[in-house]
Amino acid sequence: MSNLVEVGLNPSRNQARHGQLTGYWSGPKPTSLKQGLATYLPTGWAGGERVRFVCMSDTHSLTPHIRFDIPYGDVFIHAGDFTRCGREEEVVDFNKWIGQLPHKHKLVIAGNHELSFDRTFTHPLGSSPGDRATHTGTSLIDQIPTLGIPKDNIAEAVKTTNIKNCLTNCTYLEDQEIKLYGLKIYGTPWQPEFCKWAFNVPRGEACLSKWDQIPSDTDILVTHTPPVGHGDLCCSGIRAGCVELLTTVQHRVRPKYHVFGHIHEGYGISTDGKIIYINASTCDLNYLPTNPAIVFDVTLPLGCTKE
Ligand SMILES: [Zn+2]
Repeated sequence: MSNLVEVGLNPSRNQARHGQLTGYWSGPKPTSLKQGLATYLPTGWAGGERVRFVCMSDTHSLTPHIRFDIPYGDVFIHAGDFTRCGREEEVVDFNKWIGQLPHKHKLVIAGNHELSFDRTFTHPLGSSPGDRATHTGTSLIDQIPTLGIPKDNIAEAVKTTNIKNCLTNCTYLEDQEIKLYGLKIYGTPWQPEFCKWAFNVPRGEACLSKWDQIPSDTDILVTHTPPVGHGDLCCSGIRAGCVELLTTVQHRVRPKYHVFGHIHEGYGISTDGKIIYINASTCDLNYLPTNPAIVFDVTLPLGCTKE
């Protein structure tokens, strides 16, 4: 399942390449990362003692082409990139689709493709720190690669206002926490710079400042980007995950599960022996929505019930 290989960090470039062992890896010995966990698709109810989570990501407006059954569970998680570029029509379609799912709770974060959710694009003259304030909307679009999306669609997406209001059938989390069944779940859309699309931040300090907002008592963390070393190996051989996120997750937050997507070819499950990492990308490298949902159960905390 897992395609993890020996990993080493290159601190000078703040990026990792596989096959180069260095002394900078702060987690368990890299060889222990070779273990993978099998995905399974349980059916039916998880029972009264456990909460069942069903995870998907990176569906990219291709849900009509999904050919696998989505298992029932208590909480459905979508880890971002539910559209191609965040046009209102795409968001409305996604909202209809997620509305048909039977899960009691549905949690969604944005990814780099949800341009209309990122104020940098919809309010390019915004004055808050970090905004690319000097750009107009048009010039901002001119500066990003189209990633195969017609430019008109991108222009339409960033003209949309209040897009979050279209998500009526789920809970949208943007640097926010929700508590369900006594479990704390936190969602955040940011990723290290990647083609200058939505919710991009430079590696290093800027990324860390986003992860610093994650509460230390988070049980289940949902990000769009993987941490470095888990589900982040690109077909180019580069590990695109965030080293600051790995450090935050392993040394401060220590969630039970970390769910993400973004790197389609990194789909699968891995562990460092303490935290379980889930790359739930539904689309594969060729943007075919073929990877099944990933399911896990969490025992209810003491004193909590599913009522
Ligand atoms: Zn994607």
